[in-house]
Amino acid sequence: MTQTQAPVSRLPHVEHGAQFTDTLVSATWTPATGWGPATRGPLTTFAMHPGMIGLHYGQVVFEGLKAHRQVDGSMAVFRPRDNALRFQRSARRLAMPEVPEEMFLQAVDAVVAADGHHIGDDPNVSLYLRPLLFASEANLMLRPANEYTFMMMAFVAGGFFGSAVEPVRVWVSRDTARAFPGGTGDVKCAANYAGAFLSQREAQMQGCHQVVWLDAVEGRWVEELGGMNLFFVRGSGADAEVLTPELTGTLLPGVTRDTLLTLATRLGYRSGTTRLSVSQWRQECADGTITEVFACGTAAVVTPVGAVRDGGTEWTVGDGAPGPVTMRLREALLDLHHGKAPDPDGWMYPV
Ligand code: PMP
Repeated sequence: MTQTQAPVSRLPHVEHGAQFTDTLVSATWTPATGWGPATRGPLTTFAMHPGMIGLHYGQVVFEGLKAHRQVDGSMAVFRPRDNALRFQRSARRLAMPEVPEEMFLQAVDAVVAADGHHIGDDPNVSLYLRPLLFASEANLMLRPANEYTFMMMAFVAGGFFGSAVEPVRVWVSRDTARAFPGGTGDVKCAANYAGAFLSQREAQMQGCHQVVWLDAVEGRWVEELGGMNLFFVRGSGADAEVLTPELTGTLLPGVTRDTLLTLATRLGYRSGTTRLSVSQWRQECADGTITEVFACGTAAVVTPVGAVRDGGTEWTVGDGAPGPVTMRLREALLDLHHGKAPDPDGWMYPV
């Protein structure tokens, strides 16, 4: 245990997701017993049978949410009930038992209470919680498992793209699709991510940070990025309109996306959902209709998109620098996370 370790205030060279904390909460489900008691112990390796169903057939779902240091020194988690509900939806889609909301929240409480001391008062550093549910039965029959394991662990997060707010360059995936109607694109299952890694690597080889996923049917409509949702800003100043692709069933309904739609309205912008094609995106950036684009998610917070690459074509968004609407929304979200802004929706969950 590292109870005496000093809080982390800067994480200059640590890869996102690499700095695990000390605690693991786990519980097991069987058809006969339902959920057994959740136990808290040290985060360590565990033995598994090589024939575990989760390993072979991908019955694995997960979540991502964060606990933040508040201005009063306490810790609070952002919208954990929404993650608990999405976790249940993901489990249902993969024919897995749901983790009850109460059990999910108790695991959140236990991990944050034990490991929150790693987080200092740097607003760029937070405790990222990772709930995981996997089929732990050893059996190679093609059927849903009869035993599942729920785990909650955490790592110290210093920003997905580092702590500086630098615009990212994104790459439109034309050869592979992430999701399709009737598939699993709107839930958080492990296979969605494994299927995207090849394109993610290709994007990086093209000098880009993230993949832009298009709808798989027409290959035309912009859906989301590999691990975050997208927003487009049309116009500027008080007349700015803040828009995000509508939920088609093939993109993940992000908690941050939902939050920003509300915050944008609260800040006086028109906000809503849209359907935008890649060619429209390029055209509207060229004629100045689209002034800003940003990505958002638990890990990415709000990250400006400065340039887009589609095959041999590349275009910049605005002048390529972070835009004022993006930065205002980012500040509003960070203020909310750290208890510096009113929370009329009761989104902060104190631990
Ligand atoms: N899309 C995908 C594919 C993601 O993995 C994530 C991260 N969970 C998001 C969007 C953003 O969701 P959230 O705001 O809930 O983190």
